[in-house]
Amino acid sequence: MGIIGTVSDVLESSTQRAPDEGGDDGSDGSYWCDDCGLRVRDVEVDAEGLDRSDDDVPLCPDCGDAMRFERASGSGCAC
Ligand SMILES: [Zn+2]
Repeated sequence: MGIIGTVSDVLESSTQRAPDEGGDDGSDGSYWCDDCGLRVRDVEVDAEGLDRSDDDVPLCPDCGDAMRFERASGSGCAC
C-alpha cells in the first residue's frame, strides 16, 4: 500500500537535518542544578528524559527546579 512509502518519506525528510556547525556533537553547553550538583549536557536533555518548563528550560529530575544553562567554554576563545 502507498501509505507506508508516504510515511517513511516524511520520517526520512524530518530526520535529515543540517549537519552540526563546528563539527562536534552540536552541544552548546550544559544545564546545571546548583543545589544537586547535577549536570546534563544540552544535547542529552531529551535522552535523559528530563521534563521542561514552559520556557523550554530543563527541570532537575531530583528537585524539580529549573536548571541553569552554562555555555561550553572548552573550544574557541571567549573574546
Ligand atoms: Zn536539583
